[in-house]
Amino acid sequence: MPELPELEVTKEFLQEHVVGRRIEKVEVLQPIVVRSLTDLEFTSLEGQAFTEVGRRGKYLIFSLDALYLVINPMLSGRLYFCLSAERRLAKTFVIWHLQSGIDLRYVDERQMGKIYLTPDLSLVPGFAMQGPEALEVTFEAFKERLKRHRGEMKGVLINQAFVAGIGNAYADEILFRARVYPFQRRPGLTGEETRRVYEAMRAVLEESIATIRERMGDQIHLKFRDFLAVHGKGGSPCPRCGTSISEVRARGRLTDFCRSCQPGIMIGHSRSLRG
Ligand SMILES: [Zn+2]
Repeated sequence: MPELPELEVTKEFLQEHVVGRRIEKVEVLQPIVVRSLTDLEFTSLEGQAFTEVGRRGKYLIFSLDALYLVINPMLSGRLYFCLSAERRLAKTFVIWHLQSGIDLRYVDERQMGKIYLTPDLSLVPGFAMQGPEALEVTFEAFKERLKRHRGEMKGVLINQAFVAGIGNAYADEILFRARVYPFQRRPGLTGEETRRVYEAMRAVLEESIATIRERMGDQIHLKFRDFLAVHGKGGSPCPRCGTSISEVRARGRLTDFCRSCQPGIMIGHSRSLRG
């Protein structure tokens, strides 16, 4: 699932390579992922050009004259930037044929993402309820907002109404960096731990953006996750202490953490897969 760092670098790439190129043709191969929130069809974009590419939380926003194209890739949506001659993947849903033989394609293995066409961003489901950007919220605001939440820290971090942009992978990384147990309930978090989570959030996201920026190039469909410390690394040694990284399935998602660096006791159901 792309999260803030991947989407931020994707946005930078698209801003440089897609903005200003005329959209010659729009092919909606399978309409299940597209939703127009206006009277206009997706093909009405033909002849126009994107004027800007932005990001808000986990949404990519393509601006056009008086309209936005908003992509929420969810779990499995990916954008491809390629030559029009390149072979199409089976799960290609939408193709924007751009000027000079370039395609922007939306591919989604599990058909969970959505693409909206809208004159008003607040009409996009989930958009208006987002909290501040994870990299823009101040420590004071972070601390204040945290008070409204009483659940487990991992659940709080991935709640887009708390801060926008963090998902399952980066929540694991942030809590590992902060040395906070993922299932620690927020009311039990100390002031010192709150500070550590905030600082880890900024550091992990900024460093990850820098790493991905160096490696992504035009391969915007790839997910660079091998450099992460714990997420997806269940069973491998903890890079800090060498203890085998634990992977548990709880609350409907996988969580990776180090039981030595992030000690705690979980209340409620979980299934330990490793460690
Ligand atoms: Zn450790």
